[in-house]
Amino acid sequence: DKKVVLITGCSSGIGLSLAVRLASDPDKTFKVYATMRNLSKKERLLESVKGLHRDTLDILQMDVTDRQSILDARDRIVEKRINILVCNAGVGLMGPLEVQSLNSMRHILEVNLLGTIQTIQAFLPQMKAQSQGRILVTGSTGGLHGLPFNEVYCASKFAIEGACESLAILLKHFNIHVSLIECGPVNTDFLVNLKKTELGDTSLQQVDTQTQRLYEKYLQHCRSVFQNAAQDTEDIVKVFLDAIQSPSPAFRYFTSTTGPPVTQLKVTEPDDSYISAMSKIIFSPEEQ
Ligand code: NAD
Repeated sequence: DKKVVLITGCSSGIGLSLAVRLASDPDKTFKVYATMRNLSKKERLLESVKGLHRDTLDILQMDVTDRQSILDARDRIVEKRINILVCNAGVGLMGPLEVQSLNSMRHILEVNLLGTIQTIQAFLPQMKAQSQGRILVTGSTGGLHGLPFNEVYCASKFAIEGACESLAILLKHFNIHVSLIECGPVNTDFLVNLKKTELGDTSLQQVDTQTQRLYEKYLQHCRSVFQNAAQDTEDIVKVFLDAIQSPSPAFRYFTSTTGPPVTQLKVTEPDDSYISAMSKIIFSPEEQ
């Protein structure tokens, strides 16, 4: 019997690569339901899988902010069960907090937090009934430590950590394993798709000049981090595979060992060591 996998956010990035890898598995171990909000974007996925995968890949519409579309996708699963749920869909929001509209903040929380939670909700009863299952969530180092100009994005990803930790404790009793795949920067469309305040935006002109200056520095930092340290989606997919194949998967996986040691400071030094260290890294790299 194939392992039935459902993945959210498969039109690009990590979701797309994971869907391609699992659907092309040489042993045909998986039946993949690759879901995406907008089916008109399925060409990229179809081109990447190369050739027919009638028995290992199906593409379904699913907007994680739309409960009905989640339920409709669930109803279209031929096997009437899933073994592995991958909550991957997510968007970013970057810029000074003062310029963010309530709507854009609400949207990030709706996709990243409530979208993940209501997708899990929809599949939980069936997984519990079978007493088996895997729930894998694409986490972010921005869910483990704060980042300036990413307050609401980090809040959404921190919240996912809390939801997953809480669920993992309960779901242990149902033989359902929850794993967070914590990613640092990854080469995807994320930076293109995220809602970002641009340096030329009129809204930015309305914030104080020191914030503007620091934001410019932050964007430089961001660019250099992505240029120097971003991983490819294949590296992330390997970690997902580890988690999927392990008989007793870990709760947290870190995709990169070169992850920020500053995160440790949060735990070991509860004073403001972490805040100072991150501020130096981003705003005064020359003093390092
Ligand atoms: P991406 O933008 O290529 O992929 C995100 C996908 O989510 C897109 O296909 C997008 O269409 C989809 N999506 C957005 N809103 C949706 C909705 N309402 N319903 C369904 N799908 C929706 O970027 P990615 O890097 O592949 O992002 C995947 C996940 O990885 C996200 O949760 C992101 O927060 C996380 N992540 C990315 C990075 C990075 O640097 N790229 C770092 C850490 C974590």
